[in-house]
Amino acid sequence: MSVFRVLMTTLTGINSEKLTSERVGSLFTATNHSPLLTRRRAIVFLSRIRLLALVSALFFVVGIFLDALYFDGGTFRSLMIFRCITAFMLLLLVLGIRKADSMQSAYRAMFIFFAANLVFQALFQPIVLPEYFQSIGDFPSAGYAIFPFLIAACISIFPLTIKETFLAVVLFLTAELLIVTLSSSELNAQPGLGILVSLLCVCALCAFSAISQLSYMVSLVEQASIDGLTNCLSRSSGEEILDIQFRIANRQKANLTIAFLDIDDFKVINDRYGHEAGDRVLCTAADHIRKNLRDSDILVRWGGEEFLMVLPHTDAAGATRAVRRLRANSLGKRPDNTPLTASIGIVDLDSSGAESWVELVDLADAQMYLAKTSGKNDFRVYKQNDETSQFA
Ligand code: GH3
Ligand code: MG
Ligand code: MG
Repeated sequence: MSVFRVLMTTLTGINSEKLTSERVGSLFTATNHSPLLTRRRAIVFLSRIRLLALVSALFFVVGIFLDALYFDGGTFRSLMIFRCITAFMLLLLVLGIRKADSMQSAYRAMFIFFAANLVFQALFQPIVLPEYFQSIGDFPSAGYAIFPFLIAACISIFPLTIKETFLAVVLFLTAELLIVTLSSSELNAQPGLGILVSLLCVCALCAFSAISQLSYMVSLVEQASIDGLTNCLSRSSGEEILDIQFRIANRQKANLTIAFLDIDDFKVINDRYGHEAGDRVLCTAADHIRKNLRDSDILVRWGGEEFLMVLPHTDAAGATRAVRRLRANSLGKRPDNTPLTASIGIVDLDSSGAESWVELVDLADAQMYLAKTSGKNDFRVYKQNDETSQFA
């Protein structure tokens, strides 16, 4: 086994055979992350930055009282001003974090958090230097001594990719190098170098923690979002994806089509041939539907024998072609060898003018119901101002 594989299995906790190139790739960079993973990661980043910034702001204020016991007038006053400015910046950050779920907002918030702390260090280091190195065992100067290590430790609480971790560590160490160099006039260079080497070790451990956090997050999102029987997306992740796709479609002024598929007379299969036979039919149907879709399309198991096909950048006419192809290629067979059939409702965002993904799904469901009540094994396409809706 190569050193690389050993390293990756240690990082991910996944045994070597199951470690796919896709999984390794998702740890290297975020470009191939699914919209679901990106959204969850952004939410985790932002909620952790909010908590960290709030707790740090509190500590910056509490520290003023401790400084009062330890530092003399001039130093204390300067430290108090630096602490107030940093606490204020962090509070602004807490208030500025909206309920966003994009990684851009997450990166921005993370940058502001680290920048605020590094600016504080750059400000205090020149004036706390004598105590900083001579009385590391004292309280509260010990807080100042370990401050850069506390900032480094914050890297470990984010689920970062290898590329992001590398960038964060390089930026952080460069900032530390600058701070140490610029404030080294009053002391020899030795302690500064020692700090940088220790920080490098801490960063390596934090990087390990950040990347393995991402690995566990990828596994959990995958497990929670896939329906175990059919390998389609589960309903809850389907809802999340619909929400994301609906917003993307609106933002990009692109179309989005939903096809609601309900297998005909499925209950009879269960009743006559048993639940396991029913399960097998469901799996085969899901495989057939999936093979008919493009890579960018999404298949959700919406309910027992109901599936939702989500087709981004596609209009109803395009979806109709996909559905015709699916019907021609068959959905599979029932246990008695007769063809498995389904009723399907199709609706697209542009022609429906739906204002939410829920409305879009409801309209597709209503079309499916029309197909079902008018004889099954058919599909209907939603057309606005057409009360009976047209047979395609
Ligand atoms: P229709 O043509 O009107 O759609 O009739 P149907 O029998 O397909 O629909 P109905 O809603 O009456 O029954 C759906 C059945 O699907 C009932 C339920 O027991 C079964 N079902 C739901 N989930 C599963 C599953 O995971 N496995 C199996 N085997 N059956 C399931
Ligand atoms: Mg049903
Ligand atoms: Mg059914």
